Amino acid sequence: MINRPRFEPRELELLRILTSRLELPLKDKNQYLFLEKGYAGELHFDRELQDLHDDFIILNDLLLENSNTLFQIDTLLITGSTLFVFEVKNYEGDYCIENERWYSLPSKTEIKNPLFQLQRCETLLRGLLKELGFHLPIKSHLIFINPGFQLYQAPLNISAVFPSQLKRFLKKLKNTPTAAKSRNSKLAEQLNSRCLKENPYMRIPEYNYAQLRKGIPCDSCSSFLTPFTQGYLTCGECGLKEKADTAILRCVNEFRVLFPDRKITTNTIVDWCGGVGSGKTVRRILVRNYEKKGRGKASYYQRR
Ligand SMILES: [Zn+2]
Repeated sequence: MINRPRFEPRELELLRILTSRLELPLKDKNQYLFLEKGYAGELHFDRELQDLHDDFIILNDLLLENSNTLFQIDTLLITGSTLFVFEVKNYEGDYCIENERWYSLPSKTEIKNPLFQLQRCETLLRGLLKELGFHLPIKSHLIFINPGFQLYQAPLNISAVFPSQLKRFLKKLKNTPTAAKSRNSKLAEQLNSRCLKENPYMRIPEYNYAQLRKGIPCDSCSSFLTPFTQGYLTCGECGLKEKADTAILRCVNEFRVLFPDRKITTNTIVDWCGGVGSGKTVRRILVRNYEKKGRGKASYYQRR
């Protein structure tokens, strides 16, 4: 049972849109790719957890606070008597551990030790549980989800599940007894209500309307599309065929995400789509999918 669904992080959503419409500095591009990969890994793990026992509680993406310190949990699984903290890593390629330091190979570049992050998380969660009056044992695991990941010189007792072990690990989890559901629901409720809404560490590059490329980027390869024929847009790069209505709606959504304070009007969207759709087409799509406010020249559209 999922008590807290996972949503795409706002930072990722924004960076994805900006990447297609702006030449981002390298550090932002890298941050975007990092987030995209991380999110894909989390979704992959979510799918693996799908057929766990219905009495288990899954809380995704928790951003919590204990002793004035923030901590984030990718997946928290509450079984009958144990809390499982899962930190999902979508690392790919070869890595090794030497004297508690982690390196990516073959360049042997040191990376942050993900076990430290996990331990920190567990300690802070334990503190919070104590404060809330719950005394459940916590088991923490790094989940390496990518089948192309290999870690050399890992100690035997490492708190990690490697891709080749995942199925076995889940099978074992399935056999964990369930109990005291009401107590667990109470805990889940409390954790949920303590969750922070917006990540204060979110880093968004600065942008403004004028500097962004107008038009409709292809949904698959992000190259810009040319005016449509017979209600369809076909990508010159990858060949993807998309209904013009769907593509324009996607752009309206992008506009809303990038500029939440600006009004959505027919003219704004025509300009935003780079003239690919006429005023008539855009108005028809907005009327059909959004709620119209105001009259005549002052009219604008809001999400229903
Ligand atoms: Zn394309």
